[in-house]
Amino acid sequence: MEKDSLLEHSIGSYTRQVLTTIAPVILPIAVLLVVALTQWKLSKSFDYQCGACGHSFSPSPIAAVAPHRFGGVKLLRCPSCGSITWASAAPK
Ligand SMILES: [Zn+2]
Repeated sequence: MEKDSLLEHSIGSYTRQVLTTIAPVILPIAVLLVVALTQWKLSKSFDYQCGACGHSFSPSPIAAVAPHRFGGVKLLRCPSCGSITWASAAPK
């Protein structure tokens, strides 16, 4: 009986220790994940137009999660002309 409560106590403190250790790691990851998902959803509903050649394209999944800058433009590599450009978003 005494052994059981001792075991329970040590499991409880171990869980608390693990939680306080991983919480500072998990929270920023969770926030980044929410930001990435929001950006990805936004990018899915927009095409991006190359500032150099005017070609419209869908960004790659990695580029899609990168944040927007300066009101809707993204720094993307154009698949048509290959230049890295501030591409402006246009609704699909
Ligand atoms: Zn281009």
